[in-house]
Amino acid sequence: MRTRFAPSPTGPLHLGHAYSAILAHDMARAAGGEFLLRIEDIDRSRARLEWEDLIYDDLHWLGLAWESPVMRQSDRLPIYRHTLTRLWNRDAVFACTCNRRDILAAASAPNEGEPVTGPDGIVYPGTCRAHRSDEGKRPVPEDTALRLDMARAVTEAVAFEETGHGPNGETGAITAESRQLVTEIGDVVLARRDIGTSYHLSVVIDDAAQGITHVTRGEDLFEATKIHVVLQRLLGLPTPIYHHHRLIRDESGRRLAKRDDARAIRTYRDDGASPEDIRRLVGLA
Ligand code: GLU
Repeated sequence: MRTRFAPSPTGPLHLGHAYSAILAHDMARAAGGEFLLRIEDIDRSRARLEWEDLIYDDLHWLGLAWESPVMRQSDRLPIYRHTLTRLWNRDAVFACTCNRRDILAAASAPNEGEPVTGPDGIVYPGTCRAHRSDEGKRPVPEDTALRLDMARAVTEAVAFEETGHGPNGETGAITAESRQLVTEIGDVVLARRDIGTSYHLSVVIDDAAQGITHVTRGEDLFEATKIHVVLQRLLGLPTPIYHHHRLIRDESGRRLAKRDDARAIRTYRDDGASPEDIRRLVGLA
């Protein structure tokens, strides 16, 4: 059993991160397995070294230990591009030049009905897919977003095993029909124009590269897991077991965000709290 914690260094870790990290760590320890760490820093406009250093610091302080080396996604951009080239040569992705406004306008056109919203926002209305020509025959463009052609990518239902739960209590054997993937998720971005990759592509490649058998993460990513399983099938990668967990919320029921400095682990540390206090606060004492 091998699991991981995969934070993005775009702000201080808060109670929600502490819950996720401690849960994954304790699950690995209980199973005699391994706990790995991955720094998800593909978005260089938001990732900072000081936040990455604080992640190591906070996790050590919480009493967690992880295998080395730590994987850093910013070291792996050529690997992501290589995979995108494979997908491009197979015509599984297409170049997209639409901005948000174009997408909203096309999705709201009178004959389109109400725009459908999926895990990544409005389901892409297909504008650039309709205009593609011989994509696989020219070199993969460097400076354009690339989208997955979902209808081509999925020929049958996909399935995964959930040992935690989705936001509506989904658990056990989860399946998604190909029609549902096309209409409710659609042509998601696999490479953003500005960063050359995406969360979905990188997380799938790296969970496989790190040999992750159990993915532990927040239930907000439950729907995105369907995208990840599609990509695993497409790339011939194994599908791990997924364990989505509840989110830690503030008094008004809102999920915590990076800007919630008041609940930053560092703030608790500065105020004299102990790692045991943090475990108690998130219900893992
Ligand atoms: N990097 C993601 C985040 O901080 C987590 C991704 C994952 O666990 O799959 O929200």
